[in-house]
Amino acid sequence: MVFQGLAEKLQDTFKKLRGKGKLSEKDVKAALKEVKLALLEADVNYKVVKNFIKKIEIRAVGHEVLASLTPGQQVIKIVNNELTELMGGSKSALSFADSPPTVIMLVGLQGSGKTTSTGKLAKSLKQDGKRPAMIAADIYRPAAIKQLQVLGDRLDLPVFTMGDQSSPVDIAKAGISFAQSNNNDVVIIDTAGRLHVDEEMMDELKSIRQEVKPDEILLVVDAMTGQDAVKVANKFDDLLGINGVILTKLDGDARGGAALSVKAVTGKPIKFVGMGEKLDALEVFHPDRMASRILG
Ligand code: GDP
Repeated sequence: MVFQGLAEKLQDTFKKLRGKGKLSEKDVKAALKEVKLALLEADVNYKVVKNFIKKIEIRAVGHEVLASLTPGQQVIKIVNNELTELMGGSKSALSFADSPPTVIMLVGLQGSGKTTSTGKLAKSLKQDGKRPAMIAADIYRPAAIKQLQVLGDRLDLPVFTMGDQSSPVDIAKAGISFAQSNNNDVVIIDTAGRLHVDEEMMDELKSIRQEVKPDEILLVVDAMTGQDAVKVANKFDDLLGINGVILTKLDGDARGGAALSVKAVTGKPIKFVGMGEKLDALEVFHPDRMASRILG
């Protein structure tokens, strides 16, 4: 379960605080030290942890909190608020184009879950009453096109392909024309990833961006890679510019460091999380619900 270790430690720490009744500044500081360690163990970015603890300390050791009738409860409330803020505050919705089709471009490293997320997102949009189409622009990974076609069949949604001999830019452009004539109001472009961020991949993604002017560029990153996922997000944002993140494989991430660091480090919100391999395992990311899940 995601955040398992962190949740257990924080809930332990706060149980002690609650049990104390009156609290001194020292009690709160000792508790925050435990919170800090728990966050570091959950693989949260060090600078993010330092800032987070500082903010809470400023709010939690004041007279108002310590002299209140339920200081433990107040401290927990402050931590809950700050955790929510850390993950972006409120949920970040997709932005749709004024004149359809809305173009969503999924980018990311190979194996991060792009193709799967393309299908999941298409499914979720269909459930919301949209008419999505998918474009297979990953011409390098041999199975990617077929994989998307299989997903399209299962979802009964169109998948535009031109095989693997045309350029991804041409495929993306032709795919959008297809969507227009086919009355699809959203298109999701599955782009190619590589094992590492490299210039060639970025140049290709920039060319696609230039030509199709996507309404949303969503970066797909694997939560299980922890702080590497955050570094990848920073790089993609610097080099390409992203609107948000789809954090996949959160179901297999017991620590949660990426989920807690992405927004603070990159400034870009996590919009969706992948919670499994199945097509319905995509969830809108709700920072407040995540914070409550951690604090129990
Ligand atoms: P791509 O190379 O980025 O297109 O990656 P794929 O979409 O092919 O995904 C790589 C692997 O990750 C596949 O085995 C997927 O089933 C798996 N995967 C993708 N998203 C998730 C997720 O949210 N949770 C889990 N457990 N597996 C996932």
